[in-house]
Amino acid sequence: MEPILKTEALVLYAMRWQESSKIVHLYTAEAGYLKIIAKGAFRPKSPFRGALEALNRIEAIISTRQTRGLQILTSASLLDSYLNIREDLHKTSLGFAALEVLKKLFSAHEPVQPFFHYLTEWLAVLNSENLPDPGVYLWHFLLKVSQVLGFEGALHHCLHCGKAPEAFPVLLDYRQGGLLCGECRGRRGGMGLTLDPAQWKALAAISQAEVSALAQIAKPEAQTLPPGLTEALLGHLAHHTETPLELKSLKWYV
Ligand SMILES: [Zn+2]
Repeated sequence: MEPILKTEALVLYAMRWQESSKIVHLYTAEAGYLKIIAKGAFRPKSPFRGALEALNRIEAIISTRQTRGLQILTSASLLDSYLNIREDLHKTSLGFAALEVLKKLFSAHEPVQPFFHYLTEWLAVLNSENLPDPGVYLWHFLLKVSQVLGFEGALHHCLHCGKAPEAFPVLLDYRQGGLLCGECRGRRGGMGLTLDPAQWKALAAISQAEVSALAQIAKPEAQTLPPGLTEALLGHLAHHTETPLELKSLKWYV
């Protein structure tokens, strides 16, 4: 008999497979990234119906075998479909952008348990009504991913002199995957996004805040940050993971 895994999971991606089945990518609380097959998911009386859509949080029971690339889903029940995210185009693009990042960067990564907890908290907050500025939540997510993957340090200390920046503006350098302080930037040049002291402080405040407390700092500090920050943070992750991160979901929202 095969080991049975019962776990909460986030549905990242689902595609039809053959006549009536689905192949689904899950980010699970217990085992990280799993690719599963849901046999008969398209049959009218399938117990999986409605549960296996991207962005849903489900409770899944999975029959697992390490030597197999696709694990077998035996049961799935819907815990949350995040209706407020789905009803808001901006939030939808952010939610799906997060799923894209998970799909691109975590498929070969070991499970990180507190990270699953962060994801569910992040989605719950994004799903709440009247967020001051949803964009800040994507920055928080990208900074968190950078931390989980171990690249966050590169955003706090200058790539060249190694010090926390004292001279401004600093540069988030796309090509070198990190930060250049005002002094080193003047001497060596670089290409990326410049941040003045207030913007630098706002970025630090976002990266240190709990996701539940982001609403308080979302205004006014975050408003000083340029929209190009999204691209700079994606560039930072792409550089360190050597994975292109052009997110389709962000093109829905202009
Ligand atoms: Zn420096």
